[in-house]
Amino acid sequence: MTAEIICVGTELLLGNTLNTNAQYLAQQLASLGIPHYFQTVVGDNLQRIHQVIDIALKRAEILIFTGGLGPTPDDLTTEAVASFFQIPLEEKREIIEEIAGKFAARGQIMPENNRKQALIPAGARVIPNPTGTAPGFILQPYKDIVNHPQQKLTIVTLPGVPSEMKRMWEETVIAFLESQGWGKEKIYSEMMRFRGIGESALATKVNHLFSLTNPTVAPYASPGEVKLRVSAKATSVEEARKIMNPIVEEIKAIAGEDYVGSDDDTLERVVGKLLQQRGETVSVAESCTGGGIGHMITSVPGSSAYFCGGIIAYSNEVKIRQLGVEVTAIEKFGAVSETVAKQMAWGVKERLGTSWGIGVTGIAGPGGGSENKPVGLVYVGIAQPDGDVVAYEFRFGENRSRDVIRQLTCGEALDKLRRHLLKG
Ligand code: ATP
Ligand code: MG
Repeated sequence: MTAEIICVGTELLLGNTLNTNAQYLAQQLASLGIPHYFQTVVGDNLQRIHQVIDIALKRAEILIFTGGLGPTPDDLTTEAVASFFQIPLEEKREIIEEIAGKFAARGQIMPENNRKQALIPAGARVIPNPTGTAPGFILQPYKDIVNHPQQKLTIVTLPGVPSEMKRMWEETVIAFLESQGWGKEKIYSEMMRFRGIGESALATKVNHLFSLTNPTVAPYASPGEVKLRVSAKATSVEEARKIMNPIVEEIKAIAGEDYVGSDDDTLERVVGKLLQQRGETVSVAESCTGGGIGHMITSVPGSSAYFCGGIIAYSNEVKIRQLGVEVTAIEKFGAVSETVAKQMAWGVKERLGTSWGIGVTGIAGPGGGSENKPVGLVYVGIAQPDGDVVAYEFRFGENRSRDVIRQLTCGEALDKLRRHLLKG
C-alpha cells in the first residue's frame, strides 16, 4: 500500500509559499510505515489536476491532497476529484450550518461563496475542520465495485492552511488509515548524536549495520554533529525498543565517549544533566562566540541550577579588567592564544565562584586572520574544580563562514566540558 502526496496551489509553483505540508505529510507517512515514492505539486488548474490524478492512481493507492479547498473560484481540488471520477457533488446541510455557525460566532454572516465548501462528492466521508471553514473528505471511488483492481483506492483531501491540515490529519485521517489496516506497523526511531568524530569515520566503524533491514541505521551530518537514526518497524513502542536496543547498545559501545545522547538529549541538555548529577556549576567567558555558549546552556529549562552566568569579553580591556587576563600574556601570545583562553576560563571560574569555567577566544572571520593565526583558529580553556586549567586548539578552516565557526566553537567548548564531566 503506497501513498502519493499531491499539493495544489499556484503559490507553491511560484515559490511564494514553502511546501511545508509535503514535509509534514512525508514525516507522518514515514512514521506510520506507509511507503510513498512520489510527491506532486500542481497549480490551481482543473485539467492539470486531472492529469496528476491520472498518473498518481497508476502508482499509488492513497492520494493525499492538500490545498484548494477554499471558497474562491481558484480552489478546485474537490471539483477536480469529483469530475475525474464522475461522482456528483452533494451539498451537505450540516456543513453549511457549521460554517454559518462559525461566521455567526464572529458576528458575521456567511458569504455565499462559502456554500461551495459544503459540496462533497457523493459517498465521501467528511473530515471535520475544527479551526477553519473548509472540511476535507475521504473518498474511495471504487469501494463498492467488487473485484475492481483499484477497489482500495483512497483519496484524502485536506486544506492548505498548515495548522488546519495537521489537526485534521491527526484527529481523523490517521484513525481512518489505521481502520483500513494501514499504518499498523509504525516506524519508531531513535536519533543518536555524536561529536568529535566525522561522518565518514563513524560510518566506517558502523558500516556493517547499514545493511540491516529492521532496524535500519542511517547517517545524518550537520556542522560539528553527526547523527545515526536507528529505526524499527513494529506494532508497538515496546516491540520497537526490543528490535532497536541491541543495535543502539552496539553503536554506543563502538562510539564510546563520542556518543553524546539520543533524541531530546542534545549536547546542552547532556552537559546540564551531568553537572546536576555532580552538584556542580559552570560559568563562561566568551570572546568570539559573543554569548553563544551561554545562550546554548540557558536554552535548557532549569539551567539556573547549574549555570551562574558569563562575561562577554570581546575587547582586550574587558579580558584584562573583568577576567584578570595578564597584559603580558596578551602582548606575548596574542588575545587568540592558549594562555589567554586558560586565563579567561580561570578568571571567570574564580570571579563567579563556580566549579567549572569555560573560556573561548578565536578568529571567527571573515577578516582578522593571518598566516600564523588563520580564520577559524579557536582556543577553548576549561578550568576544573581541582584548579587545573587545560586548553584545546581548534582549526575549523578558513573557508567556513563566521556563523559556522561560531556555532562550531560553542559546540566544541560544551563538548570538551562534557568529556571532562564524564571522567568522574
Ligand atoms: P483556504 O480556505 O484558506 O482557501 P485552501 O484549502 O484553499 O484553504 P489554499 O488556498 O491552497 O488552501 O492555501 C491556504 C493557505 O495555506 C495559504 O496561505 C497557502 O500559502 C498555505 N498553503 C497552501 N498549501 C501549502 C503547502 N503545501 N505548504 C504550506 N503552506 C501551504
Ligand atoms: Mg484557497
